Amino acid sequence: MRTDPLAYLGNEIEVLKEQKLFRKLRILEDEQKAHTTVDHKSVVNLSSNNYLGLTTHPKLRQKALEAIERYGVGTGSVRTIAGTMDIHMELERRLAEFKKVEKVVVFQSGFAANAGTVSAILTKEDVVISDELNHASIIDGCRLSRATIKVFPHKDVEAARRIVNDLPAGQRKLLITDGVFSMDGDLGPLPALCDLAEETGCIMMVDDAHASGVFGKNGRGTIDHFGMHGRVDIQVGTLSKAMGALGGYVAGNANLIDFLHHRARPFLFSTSHPPSVVLACMAALDVLMEEPEIIERLWENTRFFKEGLHRLGFNPGLSESPITPVIAGEGAKAMLLSDKLFERGVFAQGIAFPTVARDKARVRTIVTATHTREDLQYALDAFAAVGREIGLI
Ligand code: PMP
Repeated sequence: MRTDPLAYLGNEIEVLKEQKLFRKLRILEDEQKAHTTVDHKSVVNLSSNNYLGLTTHPKLRQKALEAIERYGVGTGSVRTIAGTMDIHMELERRLAEFKKVEKVVVFQSGFAANAGTVSAILTKEDVVISDELNHASIIDGCRLSRATIKVFPHKDVEAARRIVNDLPAGQRKLLITDGVFSMDGDLGPLPALCDLAEETGCIMMVDDAHASGVFGKNGRGTIDHFGMHGRVDIQVGTLSKAMGALGGYVAGNANLIDFLHHRARPFLFSTSHPPSVVLACMAALDVLMEEPEIIERLWENTRFFKEGLHRLGFNPGLSESPITPVIAGEGAKAMLLSDKLFERGVFAQGIAFPTVARDKARVRTIVTATHTREDLQYALDAFAAVGREIGLI
């Protein structure tokens, strides 16, 4: 009998179990919404990126259904062969107008947008200067590019400047940050980074996945929030979070986008978005323009929930966005907090190493525009009870 060549993975799993870090997938048995059913339990849901509740918005549902009726369920090809429909082009035109740039290209996910773009525009002769907490998709894009990767401490623009100053003047350099950091909910220092990029000739790139639909006028993102239009060469947004559907996009000038059409590997080698997703994304744009009060509701809920956690004495880190971490310390403690909250009907995922530093494990909460005050108060009461029980407050 052949021995299982994957047996070593079983050993790794055993280690995770010993460390109490092995997680079963939580199963959603209802729609993705503020109050839902997970693993047979009715819960207040603080774990999704569905910031505006658009996953179940009637306009998005309707457009997705119309798309299926009119175009079917798939595109049957990658964009560069036969998988570009008129609706893909229309979505990109509309996103470009929304983001105030020349051109946009849509990818199958935000992950594909980041990884596909960074790996396409850099070579092994080039250098990336990257915040230490940038998203995994940026890190993977950097690795795929084979460029030299220089990491600066979180949000430390002076450290980034020292790195840039040590590089030869003629070298191509990409300075890259998240707009909103996904695990801490704080904002990248865009104004200072844009200054640095302009002074030193770096390409400036911002991953605005968690800012899309959340920050800036009508949800245009952190570039709009900070008044940085025209100063960021490459913006990445996602259609998977606040926009309620799926996808990522790159916004920039025509040369960038035309180049990505020819060299970004997820664009070239992976099938394009089904029509239902494309029309749902367009409907999401309509909602941002026509119902901006949803974004205001998101922020009201964010303020209410953050203040509640603060008052209870939790450590919510440095968050400036609807992402509010509750730092627990060791991984096992964060998982205990998450499990005990779940028993009380609050779904807030525990997050541990390697997603965050070993001693900064946490439960990450994200409120949405569609949580009621009762939902949020219920969650705060559960946090208070469990926090006391396990000695966090
Ligand atoms: N960037 C950041 C900062 C993210 O948090 C995520 C999602 N986890 C992505 C990019 C990837 O987006 P998507 O889910 O659309 O692939």
